[in-house]
Amino acid sequence: MVDESDLSRETKWFYEERARVVIRHLLKKNMNGRYVSDRKEALSTVMSMIPDGVAVCRGDSVSLEQIGVIDELRKRTQIEFIDGQAKKEDGSYAVDAEERDALYRQAFTADVFVTGTNAITLDGKLVNIDGHGCRVAPLIFGPKKVVVVVGANKIARDLDEALERVRQIAAPINAQRHYIKHHLEDLAGLPCQRTGKCIDCLHEYRICRATVIIDGSMPRFKGRINVVLVGEQLGI
Ligand code: SF4
Repeated sequence: MVDESDLSRETKWFYEERARVVIRHLLKKNMNGRYVSDRKEALSTVMSMIPDGVAVCRGDSVSLEQIGVIDELRKRTQIEFIDGQAKKEDGSYAVDAEERDALYRQAFTADVFVTGTNAITLDGKLVNIDGHGCRVAPLIFGPKKVVVVVGANKIARDLDEALERVRQIAAPINAQRHYIKHHLEDLAGLPCQRTGKCIDCLHEYRICRATVIIDGSMPRFKGRINVVLVGEQLGI
């Protein structure tokens, strides 16, 4: 009997086909792209991209947590792992904002920066919106190598669809996540946090401050950005 309720094979096929298009365009733009089937393969792939003896910084990324790379980086004694996103047991930040800023700045001189992305377009654009900029700035310049993990669910047809995805899906869920999990009371009352809908607000604690579209690297930095596309639903 065919299991009509299980679409995993069809979804996997769809994700892989779209990922192949993305990777073709990434390569044309001097970025590397690699498709992996699931989060297990994603973990081993990312860890293999990080050699011993290097300093590694990270961006805030649910995808990284989901594939297990943050736990592995914490355990790996042969590297220096600089984690500005470390949390206490109750989910609040382990260090205060000033100390976090100092840790975030270390990303600019780190050997490797690992992060996610809010969306990626079929023609290979990485699309992100940040509040502080500590996640998007090292994508642009600084760390010698950047590793970006992205679930194929975040592949958007074009820039318009990508920006719509970030504003109407990623940002509201992220605001609620920071409020519920990390106790960032300042975010209570953001229109998206209250209603799940972005109204392009002017709220004092608006989390959308820096919209960054990475459209490739200059030839001198060819291969600096490495995108790992995962054939699973990941992240926000
Ligand atoms: S612009 Fe305002 S309402 Fe829209 S997602 Fe950002 S913080 Fe939320």
